[in-house]
Amino acid sequence: MYIDKKSIKRDFINELTTMYSEDIKGASNLHKYFALSELVKKYSSQNWMRTNRKYKNTKKKQVYYFSMEFLIGRLLGNNLLNLGIKDVCKQALKELGINLNELEEVESDAGLGNGGLGRLAACFLDSMASLGIPGHGCGIRYYYGLFEQKIINGYQVEVPDHWLRDGNIWETRKENKAVKIRFSGNVRTEIKNNSLKFIHENYEEILAVPYDTPVIGYNTDTVNTLRLWNAEVIDSDFDFDFFSKGDYSKAVEHKNSIESISQVLYPDDSKEEGKLLRLKQQYFFVSAGLQSIIRTYKKMNIPINELDKYIAVQINDTHPSVAVAELMRILIDEEEISWDEAFKITTNVMSYTNHTILSEALEKWPIYMFKKLLPRIYMIIEEINKRFCEEIKNKYPNDNKKLNDMSIIFNGEIRMAYLAIVGSHSVNGVAKLHTDLLKNKELKNFNEFYERKFNNKTNGITHRRWLLKANPSLTKILCETIGDQWIKNPLELEKFSKYADDLNIQNKVREVKEKNKISFCNYARRVYGIEINPYSIFDVQVKRLHAYKRQMLNVFNILNLYYKLKENPSLDIIPRTFFFGGKAAPGYYLAKQIIKFINTVASKINNDKDAIHGKLKVVFLPNYSVSLAEKIIPCADVSEQISTATKEASGTGNMKFMMNGAVTIATLDGANIEIKEAVGDKNIVIFGMNKEEVLNLEKNNSYKSNDYYYSDPRLKRIINSLIDTSLNVSSSEFKDIYSSLLEKNDEYFVLKDFDSYVNAQDNIDKLYRDKNKWQEMCIMNISKSGIFSSDNTIKKYAKDIWNV
Ligand SMILES: *Cc1c(COP(=O)(O)O)cnc(C)c1O
Repeated sequence: MYIDKKSIKRDFINELTTMYSEDIKGASNLHKYFALSELVKKYSSQNWMRTNRKYKNTKKKQVYYFSMEFLIGRLLGNNLLNLGIKDVCKQALKELGINLNELEEVESDAGLGNGGLGRLAACFLDSMASLGIPGHGCGIRYYYGLFEQKIINGYQVEVPDHWLRDGNIWETRKENKAVKIRFSGNVRTEIKNNSLKFIHENYEEILAVPYDTPVIGYNTDTVNTLRLWNAEVIDSDFDFDFFSKGDYSKAVEHKNSIESISQVLYPDDSKEEGKLLRLKQQYFFVSAGLQSIIRTYKKMNIPINELDKYIAVQINDTHPSVAVAELMRILIDEEEISWDEAFKITTNVMSYTNHTILSEALEKWPIYMFKKLLPRIYMIIEEINKRFCEEIKNKYPNDNKKLNDMSIIFNGEIRMAYLAIVGSHSVNGVAKLHTDLLKNKELKNFNEFYERKFNNKTNGITHRRWLLKANPSLTKILCETIGDQWIKNPLELEKFSKYADDLNIQNKVREVKEKNKISFCNYARRVYGIEINPYSIFDVQVKRLHAYKRQMLNVFNILNLYYKLKENPSLDIIPRTFFFGGKAAPGYYLAKQIIKFINTVASKINNDKDAIHGKLKVVFLPNYSVSLAEKIIPCADVSEQISTATKEASGTGNMKFMMNGAVTIATLDGANIEIKEAVGDKNIVIFGMNKEEVLNLEKNNSYKSNDYYYSDPRLKRIINSLIDTSLNVSSSEFKDIYSSLLEKNDEYFVLKDFDSYVNAQDNIDKLYRDKNKWQEMCIMNISKSGIFSSDNTIKKYAKDIWNV
């Protein structure tokens, strides 16, 4: 949109007066933030309305992205950017004596997700809106997002994330669009008009109220919708059932138990199985989302049997896979369509994205629990499974193993991933290697059974948030050098590669990084009270804390360096600051010990001033979140992507770093492989076992971590320090880590890859010494990062899966 400075100033002052009866002098930053955000919302409101009207009138096919998580982060800066008024707004505010950055910092992060999976959903929303694709998010309005992490005495302490405390200016409550969700009860059958009817009765009914947030596209009139559902008591229930009988506390209890459904986000993206509340959450938002979609389409007089021409539903991981059965229920029980037709429509509508092959993350529900909570849905899954098993028996007669391996219901449990596969027309993995493993290993049977259902869609990130917004200085250099077409078409970043050996451009890119590093150091001094050397190498590993991501490998290398420096203080290494950031699931004890271990090593090294001459520093950044990611990633020289090969489905952090000109040290895992293909072997540092080697070791059971402990004195010393109090903590502090490595045989091959990793890190040190070569690598990384823009990913989903 176009707006001039003068109008912004006038509108902003008006807004402040209308909302708070305050002038600029008297208003707090919070009020100024709200006033500005309200203004931004107003500027986009016409387009939001028009977009909705256009979608309705043209009856264009709509995409609904169903996800348990949307890790969207802050919206003010992003919305200003996408409206194209950020610079003019910054100027206008400056003239009023206000610093836009300070207002942006007031906004609380919408942390409605754990990590990569939730952030992907947010990047996809941005890309769909920016590409003008009618695509909307559907999820849960968690009252508490992912916990806030504090580090106290080196330990992670979890604090509730009360992100709605000051109110959320971006959302609009749509009580008139509420729907009712039914749990429990029983199902009765009845013959009506010669056909069998299923009647769900004695259920408990709750209200799902949608809160809509505009998703503003970049430089376009499209404003899509993120719809998040809130669980509430149906008023009449609250008033009558208990309240009027005078049982006040019962009434409140009842209300609380219902509202708890949208109260908290489960703090883990790979564990926490079999929790009733989580199942309630899943059915709650899936049912609400589908009911409201169907209601909209019926109002438009679209024949229900043509639904698949008008909508596509993407199931983000197994969490929303109950959508398959819920849509069947609506079509059969409410719309009275035959089973076969309903199933055809359902599979045409649904598509499923698999995010992990870690077996503990493939969701399963115990039948007894599922059946009790969702009796009718269970019957439908049974029927889907019965028919599916018939097909298997036809295709593979007398093959009981196949039948057991593929059955949706098996051994007292429902396998939700299998339900999603059977009920969708597309199943995609999120990077080439991951899809390959799905097709040829984890879901081999299904891939053989369903030709062409499986496909790859490598993840992506929105370059608008992760480059334009997070790194305005680099954006400026890019625009000055190759023009601004790459913003609309990120593949054009490629043009920047022509300047890889241009000394002038190299210098500019180096200066930008230096500037970002200096401003981060100032931030760190102000906020954490720590001193960081901005001229050291910034080596960054920020991501969820998990054994497979191998933060341990990183720390082991640091300790190794430290011990080397102790022995030889004049050892010639480039000063390095190792940054860590990431949350551990509260129940994941090993991961929490790793946090304590990182902090213990940090305090040992950082306090050992004379031995290391400022050559080594370790910093754990608390509360890793989208807004922290936006600050640290543009400063990184080295991007740590060191998961055990085959364990990281894709990774998206790796792409953000690359786009900001960091050099990646990586295993051949997830999308790292595709990054390597894009930048070439010279511009990335690869180490460690590859997929075949890992799979072989796993298959043969031939790995003995103890051999590495006994044969490598470096490892022996490092591992001993876990239990010998040399790090100044009790000998039992890290016993889980110790035992996971030696007694439990090091599931993720930390010891095995150690030597290779240390060499790779040495190599980084050497490469960095050649300033020009290093800048060349950075420029190559930036210029090849366009293929990882989520715009490209979304275009492929749109063409291959959604047909929009
Ligand atoms: C991108 C991102 C992630 C995912 O990082 P990976 O390194 O791919 O695991 C997690 N959390 C936040 C806040 C992110 O922005």
